[in-house]
Amino acid sequence: MTSLPPPPNVLVVGAGVSGLTAARRLAAAGAVVTVVDAGDRVGGQIRTVDLADRRLEVGAEAVHLASPAVRALLAELGLADDAVASGPGATWLVTRRGLRRLPAGVGPSGPTQLGPVVRSGILGPLGLARAALEPSIARRRVLGPDEDVDVRQFVAGRFGSQVADRFVDPMLGGLHSGDINRLSLQSAAPRLLEVARSGRSLTLSRSARRSGPSVAPAAFVTWREGLERLPLALATGLDVRLRTRAHGLQGVPGGYQVTLQTAASGEAGEGEEQVERFDAVVLACPATAAADLVAPLVADADRAALAGQRFASVATVLLAFPRSVVDMRPALRGTGIMLSSTSGRLLKSATFVSTKWPHQRHSDLYFARLSAGRAGQDAALDALDDDTLAGMLLADLADLTGVTTRPVERLVTRWPHTMPQLEVGHAGRLARVRAALDGAGSNLGAHPILLAGSSYDGVGLAAALASGEAAAASLLGERLTTSPTSASHR
Ligand SMILES: Cc1cc2nc3c(=O)[nH]c(=O)nc-3n(C[C@H](O)[C@H](O)[C@H](O)COP(=O)(O)OP(=O)(O)OC[C@H]3O[C@@H](n4cnc5c(N)ncnc54)[C@H](O)[C@@H]3O)c2cc1C
Repeated sequence: MTSLPPPPNVLVVGAGVSGLTAARRLAAAGAVVTVVDAGDRVGGQIRTVDLADRRLEVGAEAVHLASPAVRALLAELGLADDAVASGPGATWLVTRRGLRRLPAGVGPSGPTQLGPVVRSGILGPLGLARAALEPSIARRRVLGPDEDVDVRQFVAGRFGSQVADRFVDPMLGGLHSGDINRLSLQSAAPRLLEVARSGRSLTLSRSARRSGPSVAPAAFVTWREGLERLPLALATGLDVRLRTRAHGLQGVPGGYQVTLQTAASGEAGEGEEQVERFDAVVLACPATAAADLVAPLVADADRAALAGQRFASVATVLLAFPRSVVDMRPALRGTGIMLSSTSGRLLKSATFVSTKWPHQRHSDLYFARLSAGRAGQDAALDALDDDTLAGMLLADLADLTGVTTRPVERLVTRWPHTMPQLEVGHAGRLARVRAALDGAGSNLGAHPILLAGSSYDGVGLAAALASGEAAAASLLGERLTTSPTSASHR
């Protein structure tokens, strides 16, 4: 592989894992890299906190070892050996007849084996009969090469609406805090795309099972000191400026000029503004922030995909119960609960942290985490103060599991407008923005501005890592030979 000489001076906007991955790779290739983040820590949507005497997560909880590239990166960072894998245990789905164990072979995008689904009791007789038709339906409805459909349309078309509503809505819809009627198959479930385009059966094909949605529980890892070890390791040796917001980006011959505004720390003060010049810029920030930054460079119609992206607000409530709570409630022997968007409850999911993670077992306490928030419900979530929000989620938990014990500790964390909604047609709209940025870059005789992160290339840490890698590779003029997920910039 031949690389072009690295750009000497690169600005990376955003110190989430996508920005840090891009920065690390560019710095390793010899570029002078500056990372700025408006927040006061690295990690973006990863946030580890202290509760009782433990390190616990109020944002992303675990990395999915989805691909060899993710595993290789963790090894390179020295994080592979002491990673802690999630323990075994049932994940519960909330059904009209109470909690039911998620059957083996069912992932966020539907089943890859029908036997366990039949035995789970989650589908009714008609739903089972319809799901069993999947192999013959697969050949009849093949997606065109550039065609995208919503996730529900694909899954309901293949397996019937019961599979879509009872499995995929709580799982994939929950992961994205989104609506499966709007989420793009191509962008929100890229691993299904090949299956959709080839007409292969998901339940018959061995390769579909391998690349398909089934996820072994041990495929998720974190660290005893918290998930923040990942961004901290990525940031080691980099020039990261925190509390520094990038704005006022302008094209200049051969590069870009950006205003970096650093907030005053501690005591009152105005903070500082500095205008700096860079040869290249990676925007590893949400699409709405990127839309503002690129406004002087591309037409409104071209950046519409950025400015118009929807985000869901989410909230997590971390709880410490007295340890005895687990002995009384069998549901807590599972790793968590998922609910569909039609459950009528505020609770979207619960993680039984002390069951799921071996290192979070505690002699006196039992940790759990409750989550709320889906696309379109922002106003309702914002209207609830912390006490009301936590109270409603605890009431849902009590109804579903019988846990009525009062927690001894509670921490509410809000993530306003955070979860990007990759809706049908996302990939096409994004290609248009990227083409416009390419054009703007070549008019300036500069590298194009690159977009990296979950707003563009997929929600989740594995996708964000891949997206950062792809942005750096693109700047360095390389083609990635392996990609952790579908991320590819060209
Ligand atoms: C509650 C919650 C739970 C989750 N659970 C999981 C999980 O268990 N597993 C998983 O894989 N994924 C999970 N995710 C999703 C995952 O965390 C994200 O997809 C991923 O972290 C996104 O990384 P990113 O680098 O794209 O963006 P971010 O982490 O959002 O980073 C973007 C950064 O850009 C900065 N920024 C924005 N504008 C500017 C500006 N103008 N100037 C400077 N800086 C700016 C922001 O401050 C931010 O730090 C979860 C997310 C949430 C919110």
